[in-house]
Amino acid sequence: MRRVTFALVHYPCVDKQGELYATSITNLDVHDIARSARTYDVTRYYVVHPISAQRELGEAIAGFWQEEKAKRRNPDRTEALGRVRVTSTIEEAIQKETEAGFAPYVVATSARPSANVLSFSDGRALCDERPVMLVFGTGHGLAPSVLELSDAILAPVQPEADYNHLSVRAAAAIILDRLLGER
Ligand code: SAM
Repeated sequence: MRRVTFALVHYPCVDKQGELYATSITNLDVHDIARSARTYDVTRYYVVHPISAQRELGEAIAGFWQEEKAKRRNPDRTEALGRVRVTSTIEEAIQKETEAGFAPYVVATSARPSANVLSFSDGRALCDERPVMLVFGTGHGLAPSVLELSDAILAPVQPEADYNHLSVRAAAAIILDRLLGER
């Protein structure tokens, strides 16, 4: 039984200068990635933010769709947003999975080429073998500390392209299909 989870990290990320900073949770990222995640049966989608007001926003976005009137209006959206959980840190998301008995192999994602990346074919096999948490960044990408705590970095989508500025929403969907999609 596959257990693939997602984490969308809003801190620590890096800005254009490579400095650490926190980005804001967006309605679009929560909804769009939740729908992609549900389509490929990702079990949990962790939205990670250290600032409580931002976590409250994330909880409100997801929580609205658990209300009766929203369920009646769009049950499919309720189902997708029902897999969203909000945490303060990536470590907390990993801990929640571990406490549930699914200690994850943590796979970071990045547009930047790096040495010893996990290929999509190996990543696909891994998802069939053990719990995997796919970690996505915002801003200008995940901070080095997140890459360091990860067990692997997934190969970039289109690393040789002369233009590589996918939105996190698009990158998540492409990666999901490569790792979990029908063949
Ligand atoms: N503000 C941007 C947005 O609206 O999407 C955020 C961009 S953020 C850097 C993009 C994130 O998506 C990266 O941290 C990474 O997780 C993922 N990503 C983007 N391009 C990618 C690629 N070519 N290969 C793998 N992951 C990629």
